[in-house]
Amino acid sequence: MTDSIGRLVAFFNKFPGIGNKSARRMAFFLLRQEEPFLRAMGNAIAELKDHLFQCGECGNISDSDPCPICKDMLRDRSTLCVVESIDDLASFEQAGIYNGLYHVLGGRVSPLEDQELSEECVDFLLKHIEDTGAREIIIATNPRMEGDLTYYTLLEILKERSTDDGLKISRLAFGLPVGGSIEFADRMTLHTALESRIISK
Ligand SMILES: [Zn+2]
Repeated sequence: MTDSIGRLVAFFNKFPGIGNKSARRMAFFLLRQEEPFLRAMGNAIAELKDHLFQCGECGNISDSDPCPICKDMLRDRSTLCVVESIDDLASFEQAGIYNGLYHVLGGRVSPLEDQELSEECVDFLLKHIEDTGAREIIIATNPRMEGDLTYYTLLEILKERSTDDGLKISRLAFGLPVGGSIEFADRMTLHTALESRIISK
């Protein structure tokens, strides 16, 4: 393998779920493409972050701030679905099963990775709840240990610090496979998990 191809394989190898063999296939696929394709793809990667903003309301990443979801007045502003990452938000949106607003935590509780929810992250969420006047918070963390810990931490924080006593807090039900992830759940599973969510408070 030449240095140029080896370098590309090393890049692809960093992608989630891509092993050596797939990385090599991707590199050789590119090798067979015409120059304009390669330039266009290279530019798309190079410019990826040039026109993206983090939404100051929900933490989503899009080409505007506020993001199109927060700007959409047809969405139900009384429900906030709290997700761990923008990948999870994208999975809900792609499934087309939810019409409320989101909040991207951008963090989680994971003792193994020495991660906790930062004070900024908590304040950002509380401000969003207050600004939207949401009536229900759906905590849609992943069905694994870190997701559980994040859920219990959020539940405590919301019980303690939310100024709204009537605020309903719910959690996704587990049609979701334990140890699995929202990102890879199919539409039906996600729909069931959302519809049969469990009211925590
Ligand atoms: Zn937003």
